[in-house]
Amino acid sequence: MNADQFAATTAKLVPSGYRLRLPGPTTVPERVRQALALPLVSHRGPEFRHVLADCMSKLRPVIGTRADIFFIGGSGTAGMEAALVNVLAPDDPVLVVNCGQFGERFVSIGRELGADVDQVEVAWGEAPDPAALAARLKAKRYRAVACVHNESSTGVVTDIAAIGALLAGTDTLLIVDSVSGLGGIAMRMDEWGVDILVAASQKCLMCPPGLVVMAVSEKAMAVIEKAATVPRFYFDLRRAKAAGKNGETAFTPPVSLAYGLREALTMMHEESVAQVLQRHSRMAAALQAGCIALGLALLPPPHAISATVTVARVPDGLEGSAIVRQMYAQYKTVIAGQRTKLHNKVIRLGTMGAITAPDVLTDLQQLEDTLRSLGQPVRAGAGTQAAAAVLAGAERY
Ligand code: PLP
Repeated sequence: MNADQFAATTAKLVPSGYRLRLPGPTTVPERVRQALALPLVSHRGPEFRHVLADCMSKLRPVIGTRADIFFIGGSGTAGMEAALVNVLAPDDPVLVVNCGQFGERFVSIGRELGADVDQVEVAWGEAPDPAALAARLKAKRYRAVACVHNESSTGVVTDIAAIGALLAGTDTLLIVDSVSGLGGIAMRMDEWGVDILVAASQKCLMCPPGLVVMAVSEKAMAVIEKAATVPRFYFDLRRAKAAGKNGETAFTPPVSLAYGLREALTMMHEESVAQVLQRHSRMAAALQAGCIALGLALLPPPHAISATVTVARVPDGLEGSAIVRQMYAQYKTVIAGQRTKLHNKVIRLGTMGAITAPDVLTDLQQLEDTLRSLGQPVRAGAGTQAAAAVLAGAERY
């Protein structure tokens, strides 16, 4: 295929002006796209070992860990399942902090694997209260507590440090899904006492879907090696650990995604990890201020609001799916609704990865037009003005 043919094929697949503004997968930067196209090398040769080692060392400061890091081909859910299946014996008690769709997924996976699953159920849109968790931990001894760092269905961030503090000195493991958080909000795995951290390539790590990143503490590794008896094969982290000693993965990894991840991490370090997190926080604050100004109240409480997923309530009389449809019809901008409990009640946009101020201002200008065309009274420029004030350094709201 020559360059012209390639351009014509791309144009057929991706409409002109298409904007991927979901809370993941996110737009992949050009540098990463080029890295994804590098020639394949042997996944057990020195060249690829170097790529994996580079990914690992660049991930350490993002995760805040010295623990083992593993790469597994699969989506974020594969990582959630891998985390649980590796620590369980049948009927092991697991406590899930469930504040949304992905908390529910942990519950389903745990039950499917034969665990005795209890839940701290939190109303969608509210933040888990560590005190409620403390009471549950006093009443029963758990193999693991599983929680979602950044609940993408509600835009709520869970205080992992507080949960880690409750588990310090116990033999209960802390499993954390930071699929939509890692690289956009702070994670200090070792300092906070996280035992298994799960992330995925397609969110703040700026890659296509398909690569799971897992970091595993020594405490968790001891359970994985000695106490866990639930059957596992592909996800068996004992195999991952053994292969890791040779700088390899247990099975054929998504080689091209590892190239992409290395480039994405290089970009993050060029900007500085601290600056990347600050940019996420600033872009989210601008988008959130703009949503409020457009009459779209935010779902999460301010103290637990995500910097990677903005979840805004839809005004009475409107349906979220109408906004999502109209944004696509009018602008080819793809935002998300919510598919389960909050269906039609909220819209969701990502501020992940390579997000910049022009992205956010465009979102708000398009949202304003969309709301107006759906009959909502909105003051001209309200959203973009509120966002611009945040971007110029004024108060968060
Ligand atoms: N956990 C969180 C917080 C997510 O946002 C997602 C996906 O959106 C997942 C887990 C599941 O990831 P996947 O869809 O890649 O399986």
